[in-house]
Amino acid sequence: TPPPPYRGRFAPSPTGDLHLGSLLAAFASWLLARHAGGQWLIRVEDLDPPREVPGAVERQLRTLQALGLESDLAVVRQSQRHSSYQTVLQQLMARGEAFECHCSRSDLADQGGIHHACLGQRLRDTPAIRLRVPAGTVIGFEDGLQGHFVQDLHAQVGDVVLRRADGLWAYQLAVVVDDHLQGITDVVRGADLLDSTPRQMFLQQRLGWAAPRYLHLPLLLDADGQKLSKSLSSAPIEQQDPLAMLRLAWRCLGQAPAALDAAFSVATTLQRAQAEFDPSRLPGVPSITFAATHNIGDAS
Ligand code: GLU
Repeated sequence: TPPPPYRGRFAPSPTGDLHLGSLLAAFASWLLARHAGGQWLIRVEDLDPPREVPGAVERQLRTLQALGLESDLAVVRQSQRHSSYQTVLQQLMARGEAFECHCSRSDLADQGGIHHACLGQRLRDTPAIRLRVPAGTVIGFEDGLQGHFVQDLHAQVGDVVLRRADGLWAYQLAVVVDDHLQGITDVVRGADLLDSTPRQMFLQQRLGWAAPRYLHLPLLLDADGQKLSKSLSSAPIEQQDPLAMLRLAWRCLGQAPAALDAAFSVATTLQRAQAEFDPSRLPGVPSITFAATHNIGDAS
């Protein structure tokens, strides 16, 4: 049987406006999907109402549209998909792979913040649900950009929360369920999620699901080493010229700036980008400094 066709995705959480760092993930996942002749989907990860910024979903989708980055299939919202998460959680519980956890913060602190056993004395109304991670669970994989990554999941992470004690679904469960049910073959996202990937792969193994390929893009840092999202240059891209932002993201992705020189609309810029994109130029480093990339661009 032939391998499944390429299907990528961009999965923003509506916790604020899209900034340059989010644009890198959106643009790179789009470019890689197009380069492979595949599909590209947008999924809204709106599972955490307390952290959601009102209007952010609509603004993010409008921003992506202005950049010409449009989902090939209807945009999926995680807030509409509770029953899928519930079904998978019940399967894992029925098999004894997932369990109710009544631990308090201090019970967890007593284990160094890494859950290996339930010490909770008082039963909670809504316990957390965790996935059991047995001793010796070591997960390694070959990242598309960052090389080999390995994690001792038992020692470094412990039992993984699937449903939080506040009743909300954990990102780790939802992302695995949706990547699987949407047939995602390639996950392209920021390197801040590199150390979540072994958790997701272990969960896939427990469910008997194939893992997608993973590629983690470098994080953008400010000249002073701050994560870009906390700084001035994290200004919402909605208020900026889409063409300039695409060109800037293109340079941050290591691509030849001149390739987009003759493109003066979003549509032609994306056409040129798709034709000229060279995956081997993607920067295989954990982080890049925004000021440096900016200067490279200015000098050209
Ligand atoms: N929703 C996550 C975020 O915005 C990204 C999830 C993913 O790409 O796996 O950080």
